Amino acid sequence: SKRARLDRFLSSELKINRKDVRLMLAQSRVRVDGTVAKDIQQLVDEFSHVSLDDRILKSNTPSYVMLNKPVGVVSATRDAKHKTVIDLLAHPVKSELHIVGRLDLNTSGLVLLTNDGRWSRKLMSPEAKVDKRYRVTLQNPLSDDYIHAFAKGFYFEFEDITTQAAKLEIISEYVAEVILTEGKYHQIKRMFGRFRNPVIGLHRCSVGKLLLDPDLHEGSSRNLTAAEVDGIF
Ligand code: URA
Repeated sequence: SKRARLDRFLSSELKINRKDVRLMLAQSRVRVDGTVAKDIQQLVDEFSHVSLDDRILKSNTPSYVMLNKPVGVVSATRDAKHKTVIDLLAHPVKSELHIVGRLDLNTSGLVLLTNDGRWSRKLMSPEAKVDKRYRVTLQNPLSDDYIHAFAKGFYFEFEDITTQAAKLEIISEYVAEVILTEGKYHQIKRMFGRFRNPVIGLHRCSVGKLLLDPDLHEGSSRNLTAAEVDGIF
């Protein structure tokens, strides 16, 4: 992972200029790994713990969070119009978390966030083919034809790709569960679009072996257990 000079790190993290960074250091307000930092040239990396006064700017402990994303919240770190998934978290070092696989604004359910780049890269890598399970509510009735079409794949002209075999299970006349091993732009909506059947509700129930905790009501989040972090693959 990347290393940065302490003054550069502080300047970009706090969005202040280098002169103000030097002042902060001179005032003994910054600690690296528990020791007051004085040297602007000191390097910080993924293993460094950095704090300003009582605020942690960078932790050196891996963090893994699951969130039950409500409809109307955007899967981004900042947004001018909508509330973001980061806004919903009560995590001490939000700024260092990244989103592992976004959901559309009007999709709800399981969103994962972490500061562990190796874990998220492994989860997202196309070769890993991690299952993502969705519950889909449709405007028009389903039929068995969908099952074969989803398994066969759809050609997406814009990306020039054919979707990987997806499993579709009919739950009731208007509700299906779909398992994807990839995540193209608006993929599920576009797949049902081929049947001219608009998706009116989309909810992610699981990623890999990890199910959305049924005790997490919409908008709330919790840390993953160690067993969940390793057991997701
Ligand atoms: N497919 C979609 O169309 N939207 C999502 O948010 C996820 C999968």
